[in-house]
Amino acid sequence: MARLTLETLRKEYDRGRVVAVEDLSLDVDDGEFITVVGPSGCGKSTTLRMVAGLESPSGGTIRIGEEDVTDQNARKRDVAMVFQNYALYPHKTVMENMAFGLRMSTDLSKDARRERVRETAEMMGIEDLLDDKPDELSGGQKQRVALGRAIVREPDVFLFDEPLSNLDAKLRTTMRTEIQRLQNELGITSLYVTHDQEEAMTMGDRIVILKDGNLQQVGRPKDVYENP
Ligand code: ADP
Ligand code: ADP
Repeated sequence: MARLTLETLRKEYDRGRVVAVEDLSLDVDDGEFITVVGPSGCGKSTTLRMVAGLESPSGGTIRIGEEDVTDQNARKRDVAMVFQNYALYPHKTVMENMAFGLRMSTDLSKDARRERVRETAEMMGIEDLLDDKPDELSGGQKQRVALGRAIVREPDVFLFDEPLSNLDAKLRTTMRTEIQRLQNELGITSLYVTHDQEEAMTMGDRIVILKDGNLQQVGRPKDVYENP
């Protein structure tokens, strides 16, 4: 795990006609869990995609620990992302889905990878699903697999893009508790995007409120909501 630093990060589209993220600066401490809220189109996904290396910034710097990763290939970065739609490979089993990320990021032997997947699957309560394919799973189970696939890599940084918004209310509460438990056990340096203010409140060590690609407010949940 490591600190994540964004320095005047910027993303323009359409030759500058759209400024999706405007000179955003933010320090996420080692092990800190930051929730990011804001209206649709305020730049939440674009920010995550830049940190993940899926999109190149138009300006600014991204650091993980001391290292400048701004121009580094996504595969080289030690960043794991969890998506709303799970993004599992449909033709691979749960074991293969979880082992895949590990193959990209480590040089463990095949047996060692399978062992690590098993341990993580047990931690997530999905050890009985390892031979199943994604379409045999419920939404909640798929999201557990997606989380497990991210965790098994032991990344420096976790990114969550509205991971719970496809789940029903009851499952959302269960998974929220689950993510908080993992956060406590593993000390995950995280950016967690949600449009659910209560989720942001209860989960975040700090909350970031984005508006029009700008950082409107950042602070502990209590301070942000008492001084809106
Ligand atoms: P959010 O995740 O907060 O809903 P996004 O990061 O998806 O916001 O988008 C921020 C802004 O950038 C929006 O105005 C959106 O329309 C625009 N945008 C995002 N991706 C692209 C793209 N590939 N091309 C042009 N405009 C984009
Ligand atoms: P989100 O709000 O979760 O970012 P969107 O529906 O806004 O989801 O965006 C989905 C995809 O469409 C993203 O890959 C984004 O880059 C792209 N996109 C969003 N807005 C635009 C736009 N104005 N022009 C082109 N692509 C866009």
